[in-house]
Amino acid sequence: MKPKKLFGRKIGCTRCGRKRGIVRRYGMHLCRQCFREIAPELGFKKYS
Ligand SMILES: [Zn+2]
Repeated sequence: MKPKKLFGRKIGCTRCGRKRGIVRRYGMHLCRQCFREIAPELGFKKYS
């Protein structure tokens, strides 16, 4: 039985699907670009 997890092993960024520069922080799974875009919305400071 394979557990159905939200984030598969082959999945990339959950926002754009990229698999490069994935940032797995704060329970998110995003590429660095998307992370920087949504970070302000989530209350994070600029990610540089
Ligand atoms: Zn992305």
